[in-house]
Amino acid sequence: MNHFYLIPFLLLCGLFYGMTFAVLKLNRWKALPTEEQYLASLAGHLAGQPAQCSHCASATIEERGEWGRNSQERVFVCQGCGRKLYRSQH
Ligand SMILES: [Zn+2]
Repeated sequence: MNHFYLIPFLLLCGLFYGMTFAVLKLNRWKALPTEEQYLASLAGHLAGQPAQCSHCASATIEERGEWGRNSQERVFVCQGCGRKLYRSQH
């Protein structure tokens, strides 16, 4: 008896888990505030000033692609505490 019939089943399981994690990741990205919302939520932030981390006040914020370097979904991460602060899309 061989078990080759398991191969498509396992591939489908892998696809299902991959899609589930992708959807969860996309939902987490969508839950982040946009840059405008984030800057508006900063107390005492003046228009035109660079963004600051609301957790550790670090001004060193790195832009990353959520899915890779050239990803359309951009996320801005504080270099002081490592938290994701806000998102943008382009
Ligand atoms: Zn921080």
